[in-house]
Amino acid sequence: MSVRDLTILGCSSQQPTRFRNHGAYLLRWNDEGLLFDPGEGTQRQFIFAEIAPPVVTRIFISHFHGDHCLGVGSMLMRLNLDKVSHPIHCYYPAAGKKYFDRLRYSCMYKENIKVVEHPVKSAGLVEDDGKFRIEAAFLDHGVENIGWRITEPDAIKFNKADLKALGIDGPSVRMLEKEGKLHVNGRTIQLDQVSRTRPGDAFAYIVDTRPCPAALELARGAKLLLCESTYLDKERVLAHEYMHMTALQAAELAKEANVETLILTHFSARYREPEELANEARTIFPNTFAAEDLKRFPFAR
Ligand SMILES: [Zn+2]
Ligand SMILES: [Zn+2]
Repeated sequence: MSVRDLTILGCSSQQPTRFRNHGAYLLRWNDEGLLFDPGEGTQRQFIFAEIAPPVVTRIFISHFHGDHCLGVGSMLMRLNLDKVSHPIHCYYPAAGKKYFDRLRYSCMYKENIKVVEHPVKSAGLVEDDGKFRIEAAFLDHGVENIGWRITEPDAIKFNKADLKALGIDGPSVRMLEKEGKLHVNGRTIQLDQVSRTRPGDAFAYIVDTRPCPAALELARGAKLLLCESTYLDKERVLAHEYMHMTALQAAELAKEANVETLILTHFSARYREPEELANEARTIFPNTFAAEDLKRFPFAR
């Protein structure tokens, strides 16, 4: 089975610290590598994480504040250097096209990789290519800032004992899955008689926003929610003013959206110990973890 995990390559907010790099998050999922908001130094963080950059297949940029995008250019150049043969899909808010272009061509290099740009103009379904369903929503951050929801397709799970009892095996199983029914020994077997549908898992990425209805819709029922918590709740007024969230607000979102796991990130440099923020969130949403540079979180089925 392919690797399924979330690697934190950095988890600071605007200002990195001695302990936290600028944000960047790699989700390895169904043979792809989804990289979110590569900030400065992301390329080097891959080395520390012992992950080869060519695993990246898609890059998502929430918005064009520096802490969320300054690593885009160097990552593209690195993938170019590594001569990746697969296309690199880049998703970003369309209003920031000029920033994307500058990042992509910020210095001299001969571009040999295939970069497929997906500038997102409106909220809703961005793409459903059979591997992932990608949805976007605009958040409340004062600039065009996108939250993402990625969902894998539903899977058919067969009941092996039922298949065996009916004498269905090998290519017939695939035929049944494809056609929805199968004729066996004079009987018609419907797919749902011998299988169930396992809904695809969803991952939600919400950073740099005040709490807002769009964030709730993106997060609803997600298996994993990676959410900003720039401040502790005692700084709620400041968080509102700077258009961010507190740990407690992230937990409220996770609870209301009924997610399975909440991971907090995008910590203000004022906090030395992100556990402090996680502890605050746990008072409302117990299954909360604090991001930490180079830490991996499983994203098991
Ligand atoms: Zn930020
Ligand atoms: Zn921002």
